[in-house]
Amino acid sequence: MTTSTTAPDRIGIDLGGTKIDAIVLADDGRVRFEKRVSTPRTYDAILAAIAGMVREAQEHAGAGATIGVGAPGSVAPRTGLWRNANILDCNGKPMPADIEQLLGRPVRLENDANCFALSEAHDGAGAGHGVVACFTIGTALGGGLVIDGQVRHGPNNEAAEFGHTPMPWPNDSEWPLIPCFCGKAGCVEQYVSGTGLTRDYAKVTGVALKGPDIVAKARAGDDMAKAAIDRLADRLARLTAAIVNVVDPDIFVIGGGLSGLPELVEELGLRAGRYAFSGAASVKVARARHGEKSGVRGAARLW
Ligand SMILES: [Zn+2]
Repeated sequence: MTTSTTAPDRIGIDLGGTKIDAIVLADDGRVRFEKRVSTPRTYDAILAAIAGMVREAQEHAGAGATIGVGAPGSVAPRTGLWRNANILDCNGKPMPADIEQLLGRPVRLENDANCFALSEAHDGAGAGHGVVACFTIGTALGGGLVIDGQVRHGPNNEAAEFGHTPMPWPNDSEWPLIPCFCGKAGCVEQYVSGTGLTRDYAKVTGVALKGPDIVAKARAGDDMAKAAIDRLADRLARLTAAIVNVVDPDIFVIGGGLSGLPELVEELGLRAGRYAFSGAASVKVARARHGEKSGVRGAARLW
């Protein structure tokens, strides 16, 4: 198939814990193709699903289309092995090399939160800003940092792992520090995430509820649920302020399932500004423009 654009189309794949998204993005930002499938359980089946979606996407893309894949975790610079993914079967595997071999074409693989950040910095809520810091707040907490249009990786490929920095200025409600799957304790992700909200609410009330149920109770006027969401918002504000104190980004862009909560986003700039060193920092915050599509759009933009 030929296209009217001069630059090649971009194929993006977003591998998530429950679903895999595919997209074909034209150079002008138009979406030529979209598809979603459930994530298989084993590594080999995941690779086969990705390869099948790329081949199907290719039927809707022009010649020379590029392929970018976003996934939880990251590649270890020295070994080329995937690590830190909550899709545990992918860890320790040479995922970038395996996908390239399966497709017989060059593929760029990137952390999913970095893809989100790239998308929002390019033509989303962060467009036009030099330093864009991003959070994806869902079951887990992802982070991304884009500087002048480039994802910041660093020599260890560990930049913007905001979720695995220590909870800033912990208060009594955060002790004892919660152990994290990464082997440390007190990581922000254990507090600022859907699982963190569930755990926090259960700690106070003794009742285990999923995030949406806690939100529903808060909307119905339940004081305990409202307090849990307020603690979540305060913790996110402290994380934001800690990042302001290090790099002072031009804008923070918030995505993920919990970004729909007004309590989390609307007061974040003010609250974070009070926690920053000056006590009165002006912190710009916006919700993601492309919503849950930013991950797959950013994967397409890896080329
Ligand atoms: Zn951790």
